[in-house]
Amino acid sequence: MSDRQDKARPRVLVLGGGFGGIGAAQKLHKSDVDVVLVDKNDYHTFQPLLYQVATGLLEQPAVGHPIRDLFHDQENVRLHKDRVSAIDLDAREVQFAELEPLSYDYLVLGLGAEVNFFGVEGAAEHSFPLYTLVDAVRLKDHVLGKWEAADKDRGLLDDGALNIVVVGGGPTGVETAGALAELYTGLFSKDFPDIDEEAARITLVEASPEIFSMFKPDIRNYAVEALTKRGVDVTTGEVVQSIAPDRVQLKSGKELKAHTLVWGAGLQGNELVQSLGLELERGNRIGVDEELRLPSHPEVFVVGDVAAITDPKTQQVLPQLGSVALQSGEHAGETLARLVAGKGPEPFKYHDKGTMATIGRGSAVVQMLGGRTMKGKTAQVAWGTVHLALLPTNESRAKAIVDWAGATLTHQRTARISVET
Ligand SMILES: Cc1cc2nc3c(=O)[nH]c(=O)nc-3n(C[C@H](O)[C@H](O)[C@H](O)COP(=O)(O)OP(=O)(O)OC[C@H]3O[C@@H](n4cnc5c(N)ncnc54)[C@H](O)[C@@H]3O)c2cc1C
Repeated sequence: MSDRQDKARPRVLVLGGGFGGIGAAQKLHKSDVDVVLVDKNDYHTFQPLLYQVATGLLEQPAVGHPIRDLFHDQENVRLHKDRVSAIDLDAREVQFAELEPLSYDYLVLGLGAEVNFFGVEGAAEHSFPLYTLVDAVRLKDHVLGKWEAADKDRGLLDDGALNIVVVGGGPTGVETAGALAELYTGLFSKDFPDIDEEAARITLVEASPEIFSMFKPDIRNYAVEALTKRGVDVTTGEVVQSIAPDRVQLKSGKELKAHTLVWGAGLQGNELVQSLGLELERGNRIGVDEELRLPSHPEVFVVGDVAAITDPKTQQVLPQLGSVALQSGEHAGETLARLVAGKGPEPFKYHDKGTMATIGRGSAVVQMLGGRTMKGKTAQVAWGTVHLALLPTNESRAKAIVDWAGATLTHQRTARISVET
């Protein structure tokens, strides 16, 4: 039996309520279609600021926004909180953990990426990735717990209980190491005045010879200086071999004492893509044509982190960034609106806003498409402007501004509390 009573209007099934999925659904607001959006969470996660939740700068609602809230004024959208369990491209049907299967006329696949541990022993069991809101809260609670435990039992300090190893010298690792260092030196040193700062070290480990390999040398040098100034030990050319709850073993033979390892070293496309029978590109991403469709199934659009979108200008695959996800999702929505209105599709053109990262307060970096770079406070303003534009509502933008301004003026991170449930 069909899952639909009225087949007159095309159904667009959007999988994933990230930047890509939300962007696609919102661009269909005037279209004569039924949009069904499904996400396993009832909130949209603003991943670029997860490290600020993990370090107590922002509270959870600043980074997780109710998806339903975003569609109150869009009558043609229905939302479901459920986990996608299988996608049958030939039958044009999607299965879920709880919902009955849903058929579609058009599919927008925006299920994002997930952590890749590259098979490192102990990583899945003992490390702390930072890709979801749950990850961020778990890391924050774990670190707070370690400090409270060391406050009661100083013997833990010799075992490295407060040391943190951050793996990965890309933006996730660098931003997290910088923010943790500010939390340690700026606040925990005052929260726990009897604990010696030297007993709480943060080490950033990167396998290649330099951190921030995607940036130009002036930015790389600036990042090392900014991290070192904040007390982070930057270790390059070292590969993590295995992880235990209290030790990190490097391939060189060196062992680091640490009860916390933050994994910021790799991503791969959502695991569901492996069951689609498609030939996947590097990092388990799905290759798409210039309109962001599957060449074998033109009714299927793939957007955001799970898509491998080749930029026709550079012939490079676009990076897994919020702005790529939002723009590709919006393009898929606009193309669908054109198709149902009887018009033809148009190719996707990415507008590069620059590659950027924040190392700490007043220390950000930006590299524009043409190669121009910015560092320090000017770059921080550019970072803030681009990321505020990605936040889903004016309310969340206002909240982030108040929190950031508060933290800048007072150096406080008032969300550094753990709420036990
Ligand atoms: C720590 C971190 C920092 C980052 N910093 C920046 C930055 O500073 N600037 C920047 O531009 N980008 C940054 N990014 C990248 C950016 O966040 C991503 O590129 C962007 O979120 C991708 O959007 P998306 O819609 O493709 O996927 P996502 O945002 O990951 O959304 C995918 C959605 O699919 C849902 N989902 C997944 N599996 C299922 C399933 N089986 N069933 C149902 N729902 C499912 C998820 O719940 C999620 O809501 C960062 C990413 C991380 C992890």
